[in-house]
Amino acid sequence: MEDRCIFCGTTLGRLQKRKLHCGNTEQILCKNCYPKYEPLSAVERAEAALKSGRAADAAELRKYLENVWDARKKKEEEKEVNNKKRTTDIECLRCKGKMLEYGPVTFKLGEETYFFSDLNRLASGSLTMNIMRCEKCGKLEFYAPDSTELDKLMDE
Ligand SMILES: [Zn+2]
Ligand SMILES: [Zn+2]
Repeated sequence: MEDRCIFCGTTLGRLQKRKLHCGNTEQILCKNCYPKYEPLSAVERAEAALKSGRAADAAELRKYLENVWDARKKKEEEKEVNNKKRTTDIECLRCKGKMLEYGPVTFKLGEETYFFSDLNRLASGSLTMNIMRCEKCGKLEFYAPDSTELDKLMDE
């Protein structure tokens, strides 16, 4: 059987074949298609190869991709669950989007941070804050739940 480029279907002689790893399979490409697919990730190559309908080891390829898709879906679901947990009733001051709560997060103050420049000049130490992030526009807000920490920093 003659080999064809899995992407464009061109019949290839023995010396015209290029081999490319797509997922966990090796596919045959022509020299024109090779540079188009070579820069893609293993998963992107595998998806393209399967879509071409000409891939070798298609069953193997499908199995590989189903694992990848499963993992991807799981990650997205986890993200959604996390976002739900973070949801608050607070509206974004800019766009009225929902604010998500991240925190508490401890920031180290000092030369290496540029975030809170006034504080950095006054003190070194750390400050625990709740961070809110707007789901829609990404605006951040910071809250210091415990004022004693801040008072201490200012007294230094
Ligand atoms: Zn081709
Ligand atoms: Zn917003």
